[in-house]
Amino acid sequence: MKFGTKAIHAGVKPDPVSGAIMTPIYQTSTYVQEAPGKHKGYEYARTQNPTRDALQKSLAAIENGKYGICFSSGLAAMDAIIKLLKSGDEIIATNDLYGGSYRLITKVFGQFGIKAHFIDMFDPCAISKYVNKNTKFVMIETPTNPMLNIIDIKAVVKEANKHKLKVIVDNTFASPYLQNPLDMGADIVWHSCTKYLGGHSDVVMGAVITKSKSLADKLYFIQNAAGAVPGPQDCFLMLRGIKTLHLRVQRSCENAKKVAEYLKSNKKVSKVYWPGFKDHKGHKIAKKQMNNYGGMVSFDLKNNKFSSAKKVLSGTKLFALAESLGGVESLIGHPASMTHASIPKADRMKVGLTDSLIRLSVGVEDVNDLIEDLGKALSKL
Ligand SMILES: *Cc1c(COP(=O)(O)O)cnc(C)c1O
Repeated sequence: MKFGTKAIHAGVKPDPVSGAIMTPIYQTSTYVQEAPGKHKGYEYARTQNPTRDALQKSLAAIENGKYGICFSSGLAAMDAIIKLLKSGDEIIATNDLYGGSYRLITKVFGQFGIKAHFIDMFDPCAISKYVNKNTKFVMIETPTNPMLNIIDIKAVVKEANKHKLKVIVDNTFASPYLQNPLDMGADIVWHSCTKYLGGHSDVVMGAVITKSKSLADKLYFIQNAAGAVPGPQDCFLMLRGIKTLHLRVQRSCENAKKVAEYLKSNKKVSKVYWPGFKDHKGHKIAKKQMNNYGGMVSFDLKNNKFSSAKKVLSGTKLFALAESLGGVESLIGHPASMTHASIPKADRMKVGLTDSLIRLSVGVEDVNDLIEDLGKALSKL
């Protein structure tokens, strides 16, 4: 089955009771048993829920995995993955992980004796320098937030395999429509489904997908044992969102291309970060491992001041000033004061994350309206 067909059909069957074409919301906490131990595979809703089952199968199919395991948020999914480790184990991660991922690894798991090295992985050979007998995971994210750096997934897998390390990829920014890390040899893929998968800014959820039965068994155990499961209503909304994933992401990519080209031509703009540009550092790798360049665009202003960025951020009418990304509506954000506020200024500046850097999540509105909106805001500078 091709992607667009899987997005609509994988994992979902007409309801056996009524024939309802949409998977019902099984809003129940428990299931009646005929006799002790004699049941239809459902005992208690933390452990199993039919709406969640359908979603988990759908997610496994669209990531070309075998097993999907859902959690109540993206970070709950990452939390479950790190719980596969034990005290003393080490992680090698990219140095521009999502801020919440960095916080979870350092502030929460650091207390339980898990050590992490955050390094630049543009050259994956760097990984080997940090490997020792305790190293277990290589954790990456590509494209990254908000600089849209690209990491070569296959090259990271090759380097990690030399040391028998598991490779874990946060595929939130690309979505399964643009990139399937399991096909490139990654062991585990995870998502903040809150973003492109849900796509309508109305659900917070996470998911882990793998081809490995032994990893999946452990993750299902953690899902039930720790209990950070999503509710059936949210699973229903996620299934509904996934049915249009390919349409939404395709249009976002087309719109982002036009927006990036427009910004490049605007005299108030100094730099535009979008992996589709030939002069983007990761362009060649993006072209190789992604089906398109994504719906995220970051840009910097010639007048490098926070006060100028503020004018643009409060000057748009269609682009709403908000955190998050991946919804049908376009969003504008200021990484230095919003998502990356906890990172010391000197560290931010080193990677180009200036006070005037602006991040866009380009939605699926008419692109001419989006460009006009940005043009008006920039003309106020
Ligand atoms: C939002 C996000 C997360 C965290 O997911 P939540 O659903 O907010 O818990 C993780 N990684 C990336 C890249 C994100 O954008």
